[in-house]
Amino acid sequence: MIYDHILIRYGELGLKGKNRHLFIDQLHRNLKNVLAPFPDVKVSRARDRMYVVLNGQHPEPVIRACQKVFGIYSMSLAMKVENKEEAIKAGALKALNNAKDAKTFKVNVRRAYKKFPVSSQEMNRLVGAHLLKNTTGISVDVHEPDVEIRIEIRENGTFIYSEVIDGARGLPVGTGGKTLLMLSGGIDSPVAGYLMMKRGVEVEMIHFHSPPFTSERAKQKVLDLTGVLSQYGGPITLNIVPFTKLQQKIFREIPNRYGMTVMRRVMFKIAEKVCERRGILSIATGESLGQVASQTMASMNVINEVTNLPVIRPLVAFDKEEIVNIAKKIGTYEISIRPYEDCCTIFVPSSPVTNPTRKKVNALEAGVDFNEEIEEALRNIEVLEISHAQTQKQPFSDLL
Ligand code: ATP
Ligand code: MG
Repeated sequence: MIYDHILIRYGELGLKGKNRHLFIDQLHRNLKNVLAPFPDVKVSRARDRMYVVLNGQHPEPVIRACQKVFGIYSMSLAMKVENKEEAIKAGALKALNNAKDAKTFKVNVRRAYKKFPVSSQEMNRLVGAHLLKNTTGISVDVHEPDVEIRIEIRENGTFIYSEVIDGARGLPVGTGGKTLLMLSGGIDSPVAGYLMMKRGVEVEMIHFHSPPFTSERAKQKVLDLTGVLSQYGGPITLNIVPFTKLQQKIFREIPNRYGMTVMRRVMFKIAEKVCERRGILSIATGESLGQVASQTMASMNVINEVTNLPVIRPLVAFDKEEIVNIAKKIGTYEISIRPYEDCCTIFVPSSPVTNPTRKKVNALEAGVDFNEEIEEALRNIEVLEISHAQTQKQPFSDLL
């Protein structure tokens, strides 16, 4: 392996003016966290880049880990050489030889360090001539080269690379406040969580669990989903709310068609209390308009009545297919489609109301007091800290 560094570019962070250093500090922390499992690897910072120094570690798993860090725009596997013409020429030749099957190349020198005595143009020419002289069957093509040898001359050394790898983009998790994500075992809510993290938001989870109607396996699904999502932003707090009594009461006291609407309102009330306790400023859900009966504009209107907090629905305008594609890409899909019941699928009415009104639902709830059960549920929340390594240690298959 000729490359010993990964060059990290920030992209959008550059737009953030005065807060720029806060974003970069957070990115640095997040990057160090995901790279903690690689003891030899170090992260160093320069003015407008970060460098992952591999110290002999194979780059592939490191790149995969970096690709999960929001705020990184792109990356390149790079070789660091001294700021000397001969060293740069030799490095460029190694990079070209490393690009198997390349028949044409282009050299692209950027001299960010102006004290380097040779201009970019002149270096382009010198390095190009060196490569032509020391290879056979390879020619220059400045328009559509098979490989572009990029050379960045910086104060701390010269970096040579030829590939640009996409990063996850977005903003570093931890720079955009915190949300409480209502996480079911379904396909949508984990994707909603991922999209929030992508915008720099730290996510805490709340899950409503109704044993024995929902099994330990349904809960395990939620643990595993949280584990997958924790790869993108570090350990996640998961609040598991015992919901059985409330659910039974709802379905005993409220007409069947309105059960789902009232259940959602109760979930939001509990979520709001958890936010209050933990200083969280918003609730996020995986709802998408028109996907099911409980996700119409009228339903959202009635459900939202019970909380003043912003309810963020990142998927509101997504098609199911788009959501599924993201779920597959981020690694939650296979977990979400495991066939275990969630608390909603069990009590789901045959024809839930699609056009509820606040007036009607308030009238139905008027005679029923859920407060005692809500308080009890809040007292008995199970709080777990979930990290990816942890869920990996105890894979789902072990529990079968
Ligand atoms: P998902 O795929 O996220 O389960 P869905 O299309 O099945 O979504 P619903 O079952 O109507 O939709 O749920 C809508 C949203 O309500 C979910 O995206 C999730 O945010 C929240 N939700 C549903 N069930 C639960 C639960 N048991 N615990 C926590 N949140 C839930
Ligand atoms: Mg669901």
